[in-house]
Amino acid sequence: MNKGQLMVISGPSGAGKGTICTEYIKRHPDTFLSVSVTERAPRPGEIDGVHYNFISKEDFDKLIANDGLIEWAVYNGNRYGSPKAPVLKAIEEGRDVIFEIEVVGGAAVRQQYPDGVYIFIAPPSLEGLRERLAGRNTETVQQIENRLAKASAELEIMPHYDYIVVNDTVENGVKAIEEIVASARLRPSQQQEIIEKLQKK
Ligand code: 5GP
Repeated sequence: MNKGQLMVISGPSGAGKGTICTEYIKRHPDTFLSVSVTERAPRPGEIDGVHYNFISKEDFDKLIANDGLIEWAVYNGNRYGSPKAPVLKAIEEGRDVIFEIEVVGGAAVRQQYPDGVYIFIAPPSLEGLRERLAGRNTETVQQIENRLAKASAELEIMPHYDYIVVNDTVENGVKAIEEIVASARLRPSQQQEIIEKLQKK
């Protein structure tokens, strides 16, 4: 069986990576989206178990101590992490896996999964990013400023990703990811079946 494709999708808050991922999963329902754990409080409209598993600081400590996370990172004072067990199961089943995580976590995943594809979702402009963050209406002015500061730090890391997708429209963003996945599947690391078949003595 060929392996599933592991994808990391990063990008500044407000660049629209969540929307792109949601739409991609809708069109490719067999892809496994890693649901992260976080110790931050839910925003209005966020559902526990769907957007995140919202857990206490103590439970986060326990997950780290029990080696239950593939990676974790601090973002604006709160920890976020990717639970290991469901991802390993999905990989075992040959499913594609998406992590929607920030750049420090992305680098940690790359160390463990160098065959993955690392995609950075960029906003078309900085002004647009600011407007989108302000327009969410779910955060204080200080929180928005923190996210903008964080965004400029993340944009510094952008060149280290394998692909940069500018999110001008969701349709274009999803299409770009589909093309990346299609070409990633052609790499030798993803084609064990044909390699073994043709090299059989
Ligand atoms: P937000 O608070 O906007 O939901 O997320 C803040 C940042 O944390 C986003 O860039 C998001 O992609 C990232 N993030 C979400 N889950 C994880 C995770 O499990 N690990 C890491 N490293 N970052 C995460």
